[in-house]
Amino acid sequence: MIIIMKVSATVEEINSIKARIEAQGLQTHISQGQERAIIGLIGDKTAITADNLLRLPGVERIMPVSRPFKLAGRDFHPEDTVIILNGHPIGGKQLTVMAGPCSVESREQMLTIARSVKAAGAHLLRGGAFKPRTSPYSFQGMGEAGLKILAEAREETGLAVVTEVMSPEDLPLIEKYADVLQIGARNTQNYALLKAVGRSHLPVLLKRGMMSTIEELLMSAEYILANGNSQVMLCERGIRTFETYTRNTLDINAVPVLKELTHLPVIVDPSHATGKWSLVKAAALAGVAAGADGLIIEVHHDPASAMSDGGQSLKPHRFAELMTQIGRVAVAVDRTV
Ligand code: PEP
Ligand code: MN
Repeated sequence: MIIIMKVSATVEEINSIKARIEAQGLQTHISQGQERAIIGLIGDKTAITADNLLRLPGVERIMPVSRPFKLAGRDFHPEDTVIILNGHPIGGKQLTVMAGPCSVESREQMLTIARSVKAAGAHLLRGGAFKPRTSPYSFQGMGEAGLKILAEAREETGLAVVTEVMSPEDLPLIEKYADVLQIGARNTQNYALLKAVGRSHLPVLLKRGMMSTIEELLMSAEYILANGNSQVMLCERGIRTFETYTRNTLDINAVPVLKELTHLPVIVDPSHATGKWSLVKAAALAGVAAGADGLIIEVHHDPASAMSDGGQSLKPHRFAELMTQIGRVAVAVDRTV
């Protein structure tokens, strides 16, 4: 249920309604729009009736909210969320491009790639130090040594760092080095992890699970928001379908669907969505054309020797070309890079 306040409602009227609802054991969420305030109610509403609320001063109308994602949905929060990171807005008119290798492999590898993506105009640097691998015998990531390298690359380039956190126990360590916490597709419904990053002060990049519906993705975001962290970005990274030519199937529909349902920034990952570097450009441009707020792209200077995801990584010169093309598509959809 949401309470839509009159344009003329005073701060005292809003606060008194908030106190009244909270006294009944419910939580409130106030969204102050340009014109008017909206008060969202979360919890068991059996003791509250719309008729009683309508009589309170300042109230214009009451709307039921049937969607289960209250905090992530646009009903409670009609305006787009913009996350400011190092002065760069994520979720506004300007697109956000995150780029870097799948994994941090060495200091030299990371610094080489960081310099190249910075020169091409990327806004954030990606790189995994804790890697979720299908096989326990595959490279598992450099751990803290990798985080230190990421911090050094940030120091040199000024790029904020996004890196994956796989378990709540690793979170305090990763928080010391990262600027954005990535939740990988394999952990989209790891509720203990979602609650843990919900208590973090860092923004979260939440990837869609390979078998998650859009509603399940939004409910995962809801876990993070409900635990107090309002800085969440959603990432469409392809889902599993019967098609095996590509690693996953980019659900391009998910972009406008999410933009309709949620105020959270939407990022497209064309690298994991396709699994092939030659397809990354088309998927990236399609994502921007469909209305994504940003992209996360794997880049490697020597893909043939990459320790993970070399086959889907762009070489730096191709990434630089793609940045130019992203700029052109951005203009067509009234965005900037
Ligand atoms: C990654 O970003 O390298 C990664 C493992 O992605 P995903 O969780 O989407 O598979
Ligand atoms: Mn990867």
